[in-house]
Amino acid sequence: MFDFDGTVTADGVYRPTHEMVDALVALAHKMPIAFCTGRQLESFEKRAMTAIVEEVSPEERAKFFENFYLIAENGSIGYDYNPEKEEFEEFYRSKWPDELMARDEIMTKLHEAVSEFGDVCYDAHRVVVVMRTNMTDLAQDARDIGEINRLSREIYRVVLEFLEDLNPNYRDLVHVGDSGIGVVISPADGDKDNGIKQFGRYLVENRGLSFDKTFSEIFVVGDRPDKNGNDHYFLMGKYGSPYTVGTLVDGSDLPKPVLGEDGQRLMHDKGTIHLIRSVIG
Ligand SMILES: [Mg+2]
Repeated sequence: MFDFDGTVTADGVYRPTHEMVDALVALAHKMPIAFCTGRQLESFEKRAMTAIVEEVSPEERAKFFENFYLIAENGSIGYDYNPEKEEFEEFYRSKWPDELMARDEIMTKLHEAVSEFGDVCYDAHRVVVVMRTNMTDLAQDARDIGEINRLSREIYRVVLEFLEDLNPNYRDLVHVGDSGIGVVISPADGDKDNGIKQFGRYLVENRGLSFDKTFSEIFVVGDRPDKNGNDHYFLMGKYGSPYTVGTLVDGSDLPKPVLGEDGQRLMHDKGTIHLIRSVIG
């Protein structure tokens, strides 16, 4: 299972390299793969699928898509790709916790609260609430990833203050993660750790695979496992065997860093390619 932005792509870049697509295709010939991203379905299709579909030859396509899954909205919705219909079919969906505040209402309030740094993405996500920086949508060559990261941190700070005011026990209901290009609020039971569990269960029921209780046979990789990051729950080790190609977690030996031949850390897509190659053999 792969986080997408900063994990399958270089930091601040939308498109995976040819080398990455080749590695993913080779991997999907051997086993099911899933992307577990903060993005919602249409954004993933536009940014990621296009790049992959263009690269995969027609002969390889059927095999690739048979083994291809998408866990979107930071773990809140899972899709299985149906190659015959050429569309994603939803297989689970988490629920927004209305007891915190109705989703529409919280979106309106947060839109106002973060307006100095970014805005709420309306009419796109189905479950989670996402805010992007006011630089995120600029053309690739006009973007400054350092500045985007800074704005994203500011949005994260404003969101925590807002939630703390709203309900001091908000952490029981929602998780907040900073992806570096935006901030996602997901149901506490619909974060990326839930995504691993749901993906594992789906493979048991539909593909006849078997796993231990924590699905440790599933390798998971992301770039933001630190306590503010949107991979925090993905890579904490509750489910799956976690690796990081980005930040580390203070005081924990999980997730493991991806290391190259001479022991140096490999970051972002470089680390992910290395990990894929070590799995394929
Ligand atoms: Mg990421």
